[in-house]
Order: sequence, then C-alpha cells, then structure tokens
Amino acid sequence: MELDDSTLNKLGFIARGPRDAINIDPLQTGGKLTEDARKALVEWGDGYSVCDFCGGVLDLIKKPPIEELVHNALPAFLDTDVVRITHGARESKFAVMHSMAKEGDYIVLDELAHYSSFVAAERARLNIKTVPHSASPEYRTDAEKYADAIEEVIQETGEAPALAQITYPDGSYGNLADVKRIAKICHSYDVPLMLNGAYSVGRMPIHAKKMGVDFVVGSGHKSMASSGPIGVLGVKEDYADIVFRKSSINKAKEVELLGCTARGATVMTMIASFPEVVRRTQNWDNEVADARWFSSKLEDMGLIQMGDRPHNHDLMFFKAPVFYEISQTAKKGRYFLYKELKKRNIHGIKSGLTKYFKLSTFQVGRENLSYVADSFQEIIDKYQKAK
Ligand SMILES: *Cc1c(COP(=O)(O)O)cnc(C)c1O
Repeated sequence: MELDDSTLNKLGFIARGPRDAINIDPLQTGGKLTEDARKALVEWGDGYSVCDFCGGVLDLIKKPPIEELVHNALPAFLDTDVVRITHGARESKFAVMHSMAKEGDYIVLDELAHYSSFVAAERARLNIKTVPHSASPEYRTDAEKYADAIEEVIQETGEAPALAQITYPDGSYGNLADVKRIAKICHSYDVPLMLNGAYSVGRMPIHAKKMGVDFVVGSGHKSMASSGPIGVLGVKEDYADIVFRKSSINKAKEVELLGCTARGATVMTMIASFPEVVRRTQNWDNEVADARWFSSKLEDMGLIQMGDRPHNHDLMFFKAPVFYEISQTAKKGRYFLYKELKKRNIHGIKSGLTKYFKLSTFQVGRENLSYVADSFQEIIDKYQKAK
C-alpha cells in the first residue's frame, strides 16, 4: 500500500476543543498541566530529550533533576523506600504482579478494581480471586472480606495468594476502603499488599508505610498534573530487589522496566508540576469539603450520590432519575444533558448518559461548582416547564 497525501493530511494537526470549559471529567481534572509543566512539555518535546547526561540509568540522571525526583522527592512524598517512574498505573501494577507472582499463582483484587488490574494479571498469567463489594447503594469493600478471599485461595490451592491489591479509591464510586485494616489482614497471611492510587497519589496525602502497604502505584496523567503516559511505583525495601531486579545481560538495566521508561517530555512535566502537586495534596480537606457541598446541592435536586456517605473523595457517582425521566421525552433523547451542559461550557459528563454518571470536583473550585449546580437546576426547570 502506498502512503499517499490524503492519508497524511488526515493525520494533520487537530485543534482541541476550548480548553477554558469547566471540566468535571474524573479522567481529566487531576491531569491538567500546570503552567510550568506546559512550558516543560514544549522545552523537552524532542525525542529522548532527557538522555543528554544519561550514564545508562534513567533515574540516576542528575541534569535534568530526575534523580532528585525519583530518589528523594517521590520516596518522601509517598512514604515508601524505592521509587521508579513507569508509563502509567497499569505498567506499575504489571511490574509488581509479574515479578511477585509466577504463572498460575493467585492474586486477590477488590471487585471494583480497574479493568487494567485484571488485564495486567492476565498478561502476567495469574489467577484472580476477587473481594466482593456490598452492592448498591454504597458499594463498600469490607476489609474483613480480604480474609475470606485469602482463605478461599488457601483452601483451593494449598498456598496463600502471591499478592493482594486494593483500589484506593475505586474508579467508579470514589470509595476509600480501610487500607490499614486490609494491610493487617493480608500481612497476617504473609500476603503483600499493593495500593492502586491512580485516583489518589497527587490528589490527597498518601503515606504507604503509615498505611501499611508494600507497593504504591500512581498515575501521572490521571492525578499528578503530568502529560502522560507516565506513572510512579513505590516499593518497600523488602521487595525492591525482586521488582527492580537487574538484567543478567545488561547489568545496569532493570528487567521489569525493560531497561528504561519515561525518556522524554513526560517525566519533565511531572518534575515541573511536582511542587504544585505536593501543595495541592495539602489542600485535600478543602477538596473533600467542596465535593460534599456539591453532592448535597445535587441531592437537593433529586439526584442520589452512591458510594461512601458522607463522601471522602472528589470522584462521585450519581444516580439521576430526574434526568433519565427528561431523556424519555426530550427531543435530543439521552443526549440532551450533554448538549445542554456543552452550551453552558461544562465538559465532563459522558455524552448519552443521564440515568447514572460520574464526575469529579477536583480543583474546580466553589465558584465554578456553584455555576455547575445552578446549570443542572436550570436544565431541570427548563424541561419540566416544557412538559
Ligand atoms: C485511570 C485508572 C487506572 C489507569 O491508569 P493509567 O495510568 O492510565 O494506567 C488504573 N486504575 C484506576 C483505579 C484508574 O482509575
């Protein structure tokens, strides 16, 4: 096949929609770049741009200060022993699963775990035992159920699972489980615990050791104001030699990282945003207050917030019978809500959803949240009056 101009033209520059919209998309609120990161992105955009002073190990590069980030800043920030940069939360999880377990081993996942946890386990050829949640409306993960799952694996296979994981918070309801208790239970069976903090590392304070977790995973593009794909992986000393074991062929290279990970602009955006990311985690209490305030405004309109109540995270899942009812007769059907919100410059509720949707209030601010809540009310009034 010939590569012709018309194909190449289709790949031409595509401008993004207005970036000034109020964004409540859970995927995007924590990944918006800081001004410094935006500059870094341009400055370091060339391929392999960080490799000028590399002596063969990415995380030991002093200029730019990647070593400072990986060996000082991040271990302190995450309260863990050894940190590496990966390409994302899923790559971090895969590295741990692949190194800590061998083909056919069991690992324990919370039922609400992200699909990428299941896929990572599959890629590592592992068996999965899930810890059920409490179902609607709270979808709570009960720490004690980890003991049941581990016991079941022991019963079936004669040995404890190689690893357990808790999603903190889960990516659907924004629930924060009792990690300390889960860690205690897992450790009583000598099962190490991984915390998937894709939605927490970079938003709220996460102290791996204080929580008792052995592995901590974060997503740069989800929650650390970074241009991805980029993630972080923190490992307790005891397991660092396993997860970060070196190649027998290329002695400086770590096998699970395929030798080297974020080798360009992505890690530089993480570095550029890091001071602000640290600061914003210290403002977490205000973020939770904003989330609760917004949730109560929506509940006054007849929406129902599922998951933990009162809620402890900016990611929230709503059941919206009032919007569902409108969608049954609205001219645009189930797309009416998306279109009405778009008209009001509000982005982030998935097109076509009315009955259930999730949103995030992270860093949106009271003023904008108030505008979003008023817009919801306006839309309800408009369609109910039209009846
Ligand atoms: C978004 C998300 C992921 C995936 O993160 P990546 O960094 O893109 O791999 C994993 N787990 C949870 C809970 C998520 O919400």
